[in-house]
Amino acid sequence: MNISDVLKKSSAQLDVELGNIINNYNTLSSASPGASCAAVVKANAYGLGLEKVVPAIYYNTRCNVFFVASLSEAITLRSILVDATIYVFDGLFQDQVDTYLTHNIRPILNDLNQIKMWNSRRQPCAIHFDTGINRLGLSKNDTEKFLNSTNDLNITLILSHLINSEDPDHKSNIDQLNKFTKITRALKNIPASLSNSAGIYLGANYHFDLVRPGIMLYGGNPGLPKRPSGIHDVITLSARILQIRNLNPGMSVGYKAIWTARQPSRVALLNVGYADGIFKTSDRNAQVFVAGALAPVIGKVSMDMIAVDITERVFDGVGVTDIVEILGSHITLEMIAKVSTLEQYEILTGIGFRYNKNYNLRI
Ligand SMILES: *Cc1c(COP(=O)(O)O)cnc(C)c1O
Repeated sequence: MNISDVLKKSSAQLDVELGNIINNYNTLSSASPGASCAAVVKANAYGLGLEKVVPAIYYNTRCNVFFVASLSEAITLRSILVDATIYVFDGLFQDQVDTYLTHNIRPILNDLNQIKMWNSRRQPCAIHFDTGINRLGLSKNDTEKFLNSTNDLNITLILSHLINSEDPDHKSNIDQLNKFTKITRALKNIPASLSNSAGIYLGANYHFDLVRPGIMLYGGNPGLPKRPSGIHDVITLSARILQIRNLNPGMSVGYKAIWTARQPSRVALLNVGYADGIFKTSDRNAQVFVAGALAPVIGKVSMDMIAVDITERVFDGVGVTDIVEILGSHITLEMIAKVSTLEQYEILTGIGFRYNKNYNLRI
């Protein structure tokens, strides 16, 4: 075995099924048949790795519009995709104007000052209208001012963002839809976009010309009662057993001794911790999957380790160097979100840099 294989085995592993990102894209695209479907790939493609995720989407689907959060993410993305359309949510600072132009990246203008900075450029841009979330975008007053003025902009997209898209019964949805529809009527002929992943499932009224899913591309559920069919798991995280200890009743495990053996116990130490996205809150009633069964995580997270209780008979064959699933088809994002109270967005983007990453493209 060569040195790189040896070292690969020394860290925990992230497996990414790129084929399922593509399948998920196609599911989301089919769910919004009247609109084009973009891909939101901010935060390093939600933690999964921009450099692998983006080409998989671009070369295997019809997607040619991508959204990122920052200009610096956009420049990385531009180095991967020469031709695609790239929009940046964060907007425009004065000293960024030239960089946007040089790299052919489109700012999403969020206030009147940004609009002024870009106005004379005649290069493509988007405008974000705030319809109630009070995050980025033109406020109600600025929206009115803007709609009653003239400009020299080359606006290629107008957008707004939903507050409660994962709750189909929430009245804010229809309220934002009405406000945004009014804006689109005032700006006829400019493509419009309102829906993130969950917004797509609010129905055709919410699709406009372009939908902007993120989390569901990666197999996450933003909070819908049930993950829609056709959205598949994308990632597996596997840790390795470093050591196994036999404990007598009364012996504790780890910092602060918050777990104590009540019976003769067998405990396995795994090579994942904070830097691998195993946050403090993820240790409450968490489980891992090994030897075909669920084993409870015990004690506190150590900086680079967690402990699991493998006392039960089913685990008798488990030994040092064995692989343990900490997230995947048996320990789902949904399960971890539930026991940890972390959002699925936090779990994905918290995956961290240390995993040995393995990408499969099976469609
Ligand atoms: C992050 C983001 C999205 C994607 O949202 P998901 O819930 O991940 O689908 C879409 N639009 C805006 C403005 C965003 O910030």
